[in-house]
Amino acid sequence: MRIPYIVGNWKMNIGFDEAYDFLEELNKIYTTEMTHNIRVGIALQAPLLVPMIAEFYDGNFLIGAQTCCDHLEGAYTGEISPVILAECETNFCIIGHSERRQYYNESDEAINTKAKLLLECGIEPIICVGETLEQFENNQTKEVIEAQIEKCCKDINISECVIAYEPVWAIGTGKSATSKIAQEVCHLIREKIRMMYPEDADNVIIQYGGSVNSKNIKELMACEDIDGALVGGASLKIDSFKELIKYGD
Ligand code: PEP
Repeated sequence: MRIPYIVGNWKMNIGFDEAYDFLEELNKIYTTEMTHNIRVGIALQAPLLVPMIAEFYDGNFLIGAQTCCDHLEGAYTGEISPVILAECETNFCIIGHSERRQYYNESDEAINTKAKLLLECGIEPIICVGETLEQFENNQTKEVIEAQIEKCCKDINISECVIAYEPVWAIGTGKSATSKIAQEVCHLIREKIRMMYPEDADNVIIQYGGSVNSKNIKELMACEDIDGALVGGASLKIDSFKELIKYGD
């Protein structure tokens, strides 16, 4: 059975005090108000990992990073090694987010390497894929997504990974993919994974991301191949994030 998994991506927002208040409240909500089985995670800025994990180690939610290096050590100034993430007890790490692909030239090959290194260090990779608006409008979604999955997920233990389908045109635009489109592409992803890893495809968690909010979460989560959400804007305030994680209540 695939347990729903909702992850907030704070990006380069939220400092120490706000993070502490948010996570304290999240922990309270998780322990007292949740009636359904769900995994919840927050990807925060790297310097917050140590203090927040120390404070909320026993919390009922997961704490993760937003990127990592494609090497374990060495002369890579400014990068974050999967080894140090593991030493900080980081639960998961987002890789291949479209902002990383767009602004920092992150390639499918580097994402594949990162996934392997994270797995080696015991950290769950959340592997993002998604087509641009131009590719969507040119009906290239299938070929783009299949190629991304093929390269990013090559020779990895897929059962320990999460895939996030994030159409670039839906991220931060307020224009979510319809549940029909999101389901179709998440299904396509599962079938592509089935071709690569026949025994694991039905167990892999596939999230949808792109302008998820309290109005569309229920419909998206009701789709057969959508097991969770990766959320940017609506994860920045505890009230809106709470509505997302309680979508089924
Ligand atoms: C994201 O950045 O991963 C994202 C999905 O952002 P938003 O929810 O704001 O569209």
